[in-house]
Amino acid sequence: MNLHKTNSKIWDNNPFWGLGFEFDPQWHLTDEQKNIQKKLIELCQTTLRTNAIESDKNLIFPRKNFEALASLGLLGLIIPKEFGGLGESHVCAAMVVETIARYGCASTAMCYVMHISALSAILLRHHENPFFKSLLPKINNEVLIGTIAYSDPQTGSHAWFPLSSKSEETEKGWKVFKKASWVTSGGFADWYLVQTTSPNFNGDYSNLSCYLLFKDEIKTGASTWDGMGMRGNQSGPLEIDGVEIPKDRLIGKTGEANKTNNESPDIFFLMCSSACWNGVAMGMIDIAVNHTTKKRHDDVGLRIADYPTIQDYVGESIADTNTCRAFNFQIAEALDKLTNNCDWEIYKQENHYPKSEKMSWLWQLKLSCSKNVTYLSDKMLHTCGGTGYKPALGIERYLRDAKAGWVMAPTNEVLKQLIGKLALLGPDSLDAWNNKVNERVLNNEIKKMDKVKLRELGESLIKKSEEK
Ligand SMILES: Cc1cc2nc3c(=O)[nH]c(=O)nc-3n(C[C@H](O)[C@H](O)[C@H](O)COP(=O)(O)OP(=O)(O)OC[C@H]3O[C@@H](n4cnc5c(N)ncnc54)[C@H](O)[C@@H]3O)c2cc1C
Repeated sequence: MNLHKTNSKIWDNNPFWGLGFEFDPQWHLTDEQKNIQKKLIELCQTTLRTNAIESDKNLIFPRKNFEALASLGLLGLIIPKEFGGLGESHVCAAMVVETIARYGCASTAMCYVMHISALSAILLRHHENPFFKSLLPKINNEVLIGTIAYSDPQTGSHAWFPLSSKSEETEKGWKVFKKASWVTSGGFADWYLVQTTSPNFNGDYSNLSCYLLFKDEIKTGASTWDGMGMRGNQSGPLEIDGVEIPKDRLIGKTGEANKTNNESPDIFFLMCSSACWNGVAMGMIDIAVNHTTKKRHDDVGLRIADYPTIQDYVGESIADTNTCRAFNFQIAEALDKLTNNCDWEIYKQENHYPKSEKMSWLWQLKLSCSKNVTYLSDKMLHTCGGTGYKPALGIERYLRDAKAGWVMAPTNEVLKQLIGKLALLGPDSLDAWNNKVNERVLNNEIKKMDKVKLRELGESLIKKSEEK
């Protein structure tokens, strides 16, 4: 076998202490992207990783890390060069998130995922909007952090269903009402992508609109966040109480958000959050490799890494995680192919939604990556033993961060069901907005009724239909 160890990865002027590039799918990256990766690893070493400990201990929002990321232009990663951005691709976004999570800070990576996802909605519909165009160059220069406020306290992880929100058209613009239960960077972000029902929604919750609001237009429970992990994430509640905003803060057109979400912010969220879970997984493997090759049991003269059980744990974890990473980069490449390398000009064309068609692949991706990191985090803790249970090694923090993957919407329970139903029963069966009648269930229940019950039901139905 010709397997050379080619660890040219550098950490503080020395060879990196975890796995080298020979275990990274570097072939997906261009030279320019490898250069971004190199500078970002350096930044993680000098700044992000130390701040991660502080964020976790004291629930501090990682603004300092965002300022550091802005020094590399990364807040404008997917903004076209003509607006002062880096004009980068889906592949690059996946690499950047993975790198931040692996070598730097998982909370920062998740806040960055929300920033990039929210930004992608503005980019999708900036063409005809001079205000959005004027905002784009400021995003990185002024470190303007964005996020997404979609969740709803009444619908839990069904984040696509904003039951407690609405918007109205006014003479000057829009009046926005919103209650969100979880908003990453809530109260700390500078701008918010807010989803509500459309002004003319008439009870159809799939009739959605998206608006851009700024920090001084929302109320949040900033600093009330206290989670098991992702403690820098500040995913607190948010309220917008009939705030009036100008016309040009609407993303695209009213009623369009159902389609624009699926094309841009949802796609970026699923792809980049998957990259975050892959980064957390690799970060834990790095620590385990370093620890187990150093710690010795003097009675038997063996290092932890010399036990076959530990070799199995590490080997399986690398193979499983690299399967997820390969999947993530493959999807990112497919998205780049569909969009001419993330060229936002293609969206000048009306009704052009090429990425949405791949949504079920992104569901599978998020499910696979968050499932992997959920199980792997336990295995890496076991690999490091009791020492891993203490915060000093860093495994314990990553383990708590890792557990967010499964429960973040769309949760893994919801995803499994969506994918399974789609495959078995077809797209109509998904019924995200609860407006399709399940006639099988209905007929089965009716079958159980006697004459009297049937008559009662019939009469109540006639009454209901007259009320409608
Ligand atoms: C660190 C972190 C950051 C977050 N950041 C954001 C953010 O920025 N923006 C945002 O909008 N949200 C965010 N969330 C919220 C997240 O996306 C989910 O909405 C939230 O975690 C759901 O929690 P819940 O208690 O409401 O779950 P519930 O909806 O009450 O779910 C409870 C259980 O029921 C299951 N379940 C729910 N629906 C179904 C179904 N249809 N079929 C089968 N099982 C089902 C769930 O999978 C889960 O097992 C964040 C969450 C975390 C942990």
